[in-house]
Amino acid sequence: MTDRYGVIGNPVAHSKGPQIHAAFARQTGQDLRYERILAPLGGFVEAVRAFRATGGRGLNVTLPFKIEACAFAKELTDRARDAGAVNTLSFDDGGGALGDNTDGAGLVADITLRLGVALAGRRVLVAGAGGAARGIVGPLLASHVAELVIVNRSPEAARVLAARHAQHAGVSGGAFGDLDDRGFDVVINATSASLGGNTLPLPAPVFGRCVLAYDLVYADQPTPFMRAASARGAAQVSDGLGMLVAQAAESFLLWRGVRPDPLPVMAELRPGCAAIAPR
Ligand code: NAP
Repeated sequence: MTDRYGVIGNPVAHSKGPQIHAAFARQTGQDLRYERILAPLGGFVEAVRAFRATGGRGLNVTLPFKIEACAFAKELTDRARDAGAVNTLSFDDGGGALGDNTDGAGLVADITLRLGVALAGRRVLVAGAGGAARGIVGPLLASHVAELVIVNRSPEAARVLAARHAQHAGVSGGAFGDLDDRGFDVVINATSASLGGNTLPLPAPVFGRCVLAYDLVYADQPTPFMRAASARGAAQVSDGLGMLVAQAAESFLLWRGVRPDPLPVMAELRPGCAAIAPR
């Protein structure tokens, strides 16, 4: 019988998951089905149980259920525990459910492998302290960045997130206003501001030495953050489509034991988007 997977969220109709995982399955010769599951708010656990009872093997979890998925999982990977949020559930035959968070690995892979920007030794700024930021801070630190500063509209959330990683030297959290004239090599927008067409109150010097400005939001046109970063001198800008594909590849690996190559799938979703060599 064909194994079933899916993405669960509310809303979920916009998800590119079915297209991405169908492409991964073709690329790796795996036999699987992947569907969208709209769960009612307050009905996450029932929807997961129903999917599983009908043969479901694994789920990607999207807004607003990533925290609930963390509580639902019987076991967590280290990176899911670090993040306090789960975007991938894998079910075993004995009734267990492993929760993972592949967002950070996807971001790091997209930055280093597709965009060719090495992270080791870099000064990195992360704007945002919501679920996505929680998922990426640990993997960024594991990439041996020299310094990681987190800023957020509600600064206390940035301080709390930084404190969770206090065992790493060079991590701090605060407000946009604390940045003054500091410059960063890599600037990551992990807020949802671009979805509403909003820019962030980042001082211009932030981008003065910036080799990459990366917006987690993905869009067919440059986001307000990408436009502002380019105008202020960022050498390269990117939206988050590559991260979306790369985090899906990590989920696929967890489920199927084989790692698909995200680059051809990225090129399929956005023709003309070429891979470039690391520098
Ligand atoms: P979330 O938990 O709702 O957090 C939203 C974050 O954005 C908070 O830090 C919030 O600040 C901030 N924010 C919202 N509007 C803002 C504005 N106008 N100005 C400044 N800050 C603002 O959402 P999330 O799960 O972290 O997701 C954030 C974004 O990442 C979403 O747009 C999502 O689509 C994207 N994402 C992309 C991928 C990918 O694969 N590319 C993966 C995961 C997430 P406060 O704390 O002050 O409210």
